[in-house]
Amino acid sequence: MTDGIKDRLKQLGLKPSKKLGQHFLVDGEIAARQVEAAKISSRDTVLEIGPGLGVLTEEIVKKAKRTVLIEKDPAFRGYLAGRFSSYDVEVIHGDALDVDYPLFDKVVSNLPFNISSPLTFKLLEQDFVSGVLMYQKEYAERMVAGVGEPNYSRLSVMVSVKAEVANLFSVHRSRFFPPPKVDAAVVSMIPRKPSFEIKHHEVYEMVVRELFNYRRKTIKNALKYGLGVDTSGLPFEKFRGENLSPQEINRLVNALVDKDLL
Ligand code: SAM
Repeated sequence: MTDGIKDRLKQLGLKPSKKLGQHFLVDGEIAARQVEAAKISSRDTVLEIGPGLGVLTEEIVKKAKRTVLIEKDPAFRGYLAGRFSSYDVEVIHGDALDVDYPLFDKVVSNLPFNISSPLTFKLLEQDFVSGVLMYQKEYAERMVAGVGEPNYSRLSVMVSVKAEVANLFSVHRSRFFPPPKVDAAVVSMIPRKPSFEIKHHEVYEMVVRELFNYRRKTIKNALKYGLGVDTSGLPFEKFRGENLSPQEINRLVNALVDKDLL
């Protein structure tokens, strides 16, 4: 299986770039499972970030009405347009962190691991129906963790207030060429508003950051060290940040703002 990818790279005269997080999927079955999970219909416009050699693209284009690819590596310029010329495919050559995204219904991508966070939060600013995305396994575990679980983190909270996420399946590192040093996992994502209203977004983000910077400290101490505020008498002051749900953090934030502490 690896041979096909190696041959394609050879034909294009390319060496996988570490800087661009290039680990190409060598197993078409995994791409097919990802696309299956995305439930793409023939009315959908699908966004793929980082198509690379097109292993995943090949499965997407068979189902989608239209596919938009964003690829940073100029080496794939002619290759992608040529290979998928019989489908409705637009290739945007640029950095997915910089370019404006077109309207799309679904996003299906094997993201470069080194920019998972900024890409995820940029995606979550867009208006779309759902996504199926591959991440480094440990990152995916932090993304989907709920309160009380060992991987519950700042990432879990900040994702959970923007989307419903679930871990779908793991992908062993041997399924890529070159193999990364870590395994991967495929996550489903459905953007949604939280069940509670966040009135003070910036303060919320700031408080979440400090609660997890000092996750083993009580909230009273975490916010004293992190933000220099005295939370005496406020809800949850004796708890640890890692034990508060996103909604409870919101209650704390509202209390901090109401008391003019932040
Ligand atoms: N989708 C392909 C696959 O599954 O085999 C390649 C996945 S590889 C992990 C990541 C891809 O993202 C590479 O093609 C790389 O060139 C591209 N890439 C890296 N950084 C990017 C960025 N900032 N914007 C767009 N594409 C990027």
